[in-house]
Amino acid sequence: MLQPPLLWKGVAVENINTSLPQKSGRPLHALQDSYQREFSYLRLSVTDVCNFSCNYCLPDGYQCDSEQGKQKPLSLEEIKQLVSVFAQKGITKVRITGGEPSIRKDLVEIIRCVKNTQGIETVALTTNGYKLTENIQSWIEAGLDALNVSIDSLDPSVFQMITGHSRLQETLAGLDRALELGLKKVKVNAVLLKTYNLNEFERFLNWIKTTPISLRFIELMETSDNREYFHANHVKGEDIQARLEQSGWVQKIRSKNAGPAKEYEHSDFAGNIGLIMPYSKDFCKSCNRLRISSMGKLHLCLFGEGGEDLRPYLGSGQSEEQDELLSQQVDLGLQTKPEEHYLSDNNTGTTRHLAMLGG
Ligand code: SAM
Repeated sequence: MLQPPLLWKGVAVENINTSLPQKSGRPLHALQDSYQREFSYLRLSVTDVCNFSCNYCLPDGYQCDSEQGKQKPLSLEEIKQLVSVFAQKGITKVRITGGEPSIRKDLVEIIRCVKNTQGIETVALTTNGYKLTENIQSWIEAGLDALNVSIDSLDPSVFQMITGHSRLQETLAGLDRALELGLKKVKVNAVLLKTYNLNEFERFLNWIKTTPISLRFIELMETSDNREYFHANHVKGEDIQARLEQSGWVQKIRSKNAGPAKEYEHSDFAGNIGLIMPYSKDFCKSCNRLRISSMGKLHLCLFGEGGEDLRPYLGSGQSEEQDELLSQQVDLGLQTKPEEHYLSDNNTGTTRHLAMLGG
């Protein structure tokens, strides 16, 4: 049996507690960190390239940095191995994200491969809606269970101002097609921005009166690239929450394994609302997700430092020993997951923008 590596990010790990209860060689609570949080959800970025230039994320569009440019994103084979190892460790839901995942030519194969992995119950995708109408049927046929489409404005000119593209009608048509095809879990992500779309709050609500989707209002997060923009546009999650409650929206009772979103419903509306409030107290207490970048780095937090390269354990000549090493590396890393993201201290770690990791 190969010895586990004793390094995490190149640092000796004597001080890291990896002594979780063991059962036939594997931890009993396989993916649990030192704060007793359990992880069943993996967000897998399949490319860091994005074709939109959202002004809070990639205002100048995707720029290939020379280091990244030398490497290729995870291959289908690497994805297969990664997802299989994470599934054996208790991951049941995988969200495919990016960059913009729909620009991967093999996205259908990626969806199918993740869906066919033993232990994976839900395959979700986050997209800006590019070519959604054309592609959604093949994604569903490949096994897609859940779809999130980012739509920051229902006004075509504001949509263009934010994203750099005049594709609102096309994106909405794609969303309708997903609903027509019977996809049950359809969400729309909208980041509320003080100087762009905050005045569309009521319009968004009116839209879901008859549209059976889950609308996610995401509080704008500061990254190292958007500091000025953030200060001009950040809307406090608590203010949105107060507006919803004043309009009769009622918070749903949280299930035990629910993630950090606060879910709201209203009997007069076909849709419901999720609030993602990363600056709220205790947001990180319900963290249930791990992230892998398109270059194969494990990120324990959206705003952590760097990520740990899992690629040395991936690739040709895969073997059980290699999978075991990968699994042990994930266990080691998990014990170093910080208690919270420290965003309220303006600490954005090494995250320049969220297209690096897929949000
Ligand atoms: N290209 C895909 C898309 O547009 O949905 C997936 C990647 S994108 C980074 C994922 C989500 O992150 C989008 O809903 C986007 O609005 C959100 N996002 C990006 N930067 C953000 C920020 N600074 N604060 C809050 N949400 C952000």
